[in-house]
Amino acid sequence: MSQPGSESPRMNFIGGEWVPSVSGETYRTVNPARPKEVVGEFQASLPQDAENAIIAAAKAAPEWGRMPAPQRGSLLYKSLAIFERRVDELARAITVEEGKPIADSTGEVKRAMNILEYAAGEGRRLFGYTTPSELPDTAAYTFRRPLGVVSIITPWNFPVAIPVWKIAPALICGNAIIFKPASATPLAATIIAEIFEEAGLPAGVFNLVTGPGGSIGNTLVEDPRVNGVSFTGSTEIGTRIYARGAEALKKIQAELGGKNAAIIMNDADLDKAVPGVVQGAFGSTGQRCTATSRAIVEKGVYGEFMDRLIEQTSALTVGDGINPDNDVAPLSSQSQFDTVREYIGVGTEEGAKLAFGGRALEGPEWEGGYYVEPTIFTDVPLDSRIAQEEIFGPVLTVFQADDVQDAVRISNSVQFGLSSSIYTRDLVQAHEYINTVETGMVHVNAPTLGGEVHLPFGGLKASGVGQREQGTEGFDFFTETITAYIDYSAGSRERSRFI
Ligand code: NDP
Repeated sequence: MSQPGSESPRMNFIGGEWVPSVSGETYRTVNPARPKEVVGEFQASLPQDAENAIIAAAKAAPEWGRMPAPQRGSLLYKSLAIFERRVDELARAITVEEGKPIADSTGEVKRAMNILEYAAGEGRRLFGYTTPSELPDTAAYTFRRPLGVVSIITPWNFPVAIPVWKIAPALICGNAIIFKPASATPLAATIIAEIFEEAGLPAGVFNLVTGPGGSIGNTLVEDPRVNGVSFTGSTEIGTRIYARGAEALKKIQAELGGKNAAIIMNDADLDKAVPGVVQGAFGSTGQRCTATSRAIVEKGVYGEFMDRLIEQTSALTVGDGINPDNDVAPLSSQSQFDTVREYIGVGTEEGAKLAFGGRALEGPEWEGGYYVEPTIFTDVPLDSRIAQEEIFGPVLTVFQADDVQDAVRISNSVQFGLSSSIYTRDLVQAHEYINTVETGMVHVNAPTLGGEVHLPFGGLKASGVGQREQGTEGFDFFTETITAYIDYSAGSRERSRFI
């Protein structure tokens, strides 16, 4: 069956065919800028659909794994060319489905393409290593073998980049995959599946199953034919998946939440620091795992920093992300909208001072969209919920610090450890921070955001567990390392008595 036109319900993609869910049930997604507008209708899959996809992947995996990696790379290069052709369509899909400003959506698609390009080239560089053996006439080396079948479970906040930064390395390493996107963003996922179909991947290598994680997630993690799970999402769900996978001794990679801090020292260049914090806190409506959720400001510069922060935040325009003039778009869903408003209420109740914003934007001109003003809290108690929990919205909490050690202490006082940054001109302070801050990514004189595809991405503590994504480490998760010893000596010889 081929994929029907955009007016009909979109299908799952299993074993190279576009198929409905076994139940025939579908669900609709809406545009967060005007929730009366339906974006599309998608399959509400059941565990049986997930199992069908696993069966298809398990059938396809051996042959795909045997295909030389450079040939797999050629197919990824083909998919890259198709991405290029569909950039605008994908960016638009992200914005109408998830809300983010169209320039951010375009940037996200381009980032996904960088990842594809990087992974495709890696088909010629999936290195093992050779080393001299202890024994004469013996070759010793390592090589990589694909895991087999891998489930890929992703969140809604980067509905193209995050799936592709898992799918591309998984495929180049020779795995067959089942991709389960967030329920909120199945349109972008469907376009990704169409792209890989057109690129000519063999049937069953790429499978897409849409629908609630609560319904199909267990099958995707627990089925014995699944050898690995690459998950990005909340710490709560990731912890459950990690525990379930561990019981079955599966490889699990979990990229989780964040509560990222930018530190601003007295000697910081505020022309850099203030826009960096504004972009980090309110760009993509604060719905990035690497968003700047906290600013920790050394006391000597606090007054000037706050004046400039409020001035620049008040210049941001809030509105539909499809309009390129808008800086801050709606939150992605009713539940995100409710959560962020609740946190703003909690912040005030817990004794923090609302220094800017704080209102939901309601009224006919907002068309029921999930808009919240960029919001800044100061005087935030360190043990309060808004100081400790991931809000995942345009809410910044600001703290004062005595010196760099105090700033790092505040930065480290949360359970998360994804990303952080410091603004200073002093190399000693910068290195004190780099060496003691508890985050997987550190930035000096730059926002907490971002990452380049050829460098590892991931966090410490409650921000992640398992091997890093991206960079050369990104290929470690999707392969097993096999160690080979080849005795090419003539005749018999004494064997080692060790091990
Ligand atoms: P969730 O954890 O709610 O969902 C993530 C994915 O897991 C979705 O596809 C979801 O499906 C699925 N899921 C839900 N329940 C289960 C289950 N029982 N078993 C298996 N899968 C399940 O996260 P969000 O989508 O809300 O994403 C936001 C979170 O992602 C934030 O915490 C953010 O920090 C984090 N994130 C982390 C990044 C990192 O690299 N560290 C990067 C980007 C985001 P469904 O949508 O159907 O519920």
